[in-house]
Amino acid sequence: MKRPVLLIKFGEIGLKGGNRRFFERLLIDRLKAALADLPGNVPWIERVRGRFLLDLSSIPPAVAIDRLGRVFGVVELSRALQVDADLDSLAAASREVLGEALADFAGDRPVRFRVTARRADKRFPVNSMELNQLLGAHLLRSAPRLQVDLHHPEITVEVEVREEGAYAYARNYRGPGGLPVGSSGKALLLLSGGIDSPVAGWMSLKRGLELEAVHFQSFPFTSERAREKAVDLARALSPWAGGSLALHLLSFTETQRAIRNACPEELGVTLMRRMMFRIAQALAGQVNAHALVTGDNLGQVASQTLASLSVIGQATDLLVLRPLVGLDKTEIIDFARKIGTFDISARPYPDCCSLLLPRHPATRPTLAGVGRAEARLDAIGLVERALASRETLQLTPTISFS
Ligand code: ATP
Ligand code: MG
Repeated sequence: MKRPVLLIKFGEIGLKGGNRRFFERLLIDRLKAALADLPGNVPWIERVRGRFLLDLSSIPPAVAIDRLGRVFGVVELSRALQVDADLDSLAAASREVLGEALADFAGDRPVRFRVTARRADKRFPVNSMELNQLLGAHLLRSAPRLQVDLHHPEITVEVEVREEGAYAYARNYRGPGGLPVGSSGKALLLLSGGIDSPVAGWMSLKRGLELEAVHFQSFPFTSERAREKAVDLARALSPWAGGSLALHLLSFTETQRAIRNACPEELGVTLMRRMMFRIAQALAGQVNAHALVTGDNLGQVASQTLASLSVIGQATDLLVLRPLVGLDKTEIIDFARKIGTFDISARPYPDCCSLLLPRHPATRPTLAGVGRAEARLDAIGLVERALASRETLQLTPTISFS
């Protein structure tokens, strides 16, 4: 028996004691969902002691690695050969995986390598030390470029003898870590067209939150392009979100007009944000989400002083998560590039909050002052009508089999 497999290793979820089975089952579901749209049968994912196995015979390895590399909970993926547990099979498999890894090193300069063997199945007659030596010597003879280097290898050939079979592998890919989406409950992401909120969404997905997203639009103040941006951002997040992300588009035009007509200009941003929270809280109730997530940071703009965030936050009883609070703008941008949202956010179409920006926004709004201004608004009616305008899109990644 010899077959190519992907070893799927997970970390933290192994630590969760009694919850372990729940986490593992959820992770398997997420892995399957990430491959569900590929042609052919849904690939079978096997659970073997502390890790999962995907048979790579019928699925292009690069596609599997690309897809599963975006499933939270995955710590590492290894392209392996699974073989019978005997020395000859292991020697042949190690040579093959080493040859593939060696192909990444152009030219014919020497390449440092080592073997790291683990004998988990003690019925196997050769122990780990002996396996290291035997296979190391065998591989050394197989290619003249190779040099053994135990301390600074460029290639590590890993060999494992386990109860369910033996494996050899030399190419590993880092997963995103985190917890499987849905293991921490569900939240509603306030998704603007900016750089920050998609990153905030990614971070909360990483910690196991299931998300739905809401975007407030202000036709005709904002364009069709601004809406498209939010849709594309949600789509770009969807592979991280379990393969699909619901985006709720709500009209904010009436609310914005009412605020502009009835309230002091310098409180405009504060009042808009508070109305967003009220509407989002009502929507969260409808979709069974238990927290709000925003891309707020500290100190970036007027609405992000402590006083301002505090007054805005008091518009909702829901927990508000602000996962970007510890990051600098340059770090947020790095993340945005990594997760594939930066170029979309950088498109020059303003969302509703960039318009109607006051010349001198209040940096120290008070609850009392805000209360006086809001007394002139029909907040309940505005929330109801914004909700009634809801349009929901279920977004999935643009299919690519490359
Ligand atoms: P971003 O880059 O996410 O727009 P920002 O630094 O520009 O963030 P603000 O524009 O002040 O900050 O918005 C703060 C947060 O409020 C956003 O991160 C987002 O969570 C939410 N928000 C702002 N505008 C909208 C909108 N039109 N629809 C939904 N949420 C929004
Ligand atoms: Mg913004």
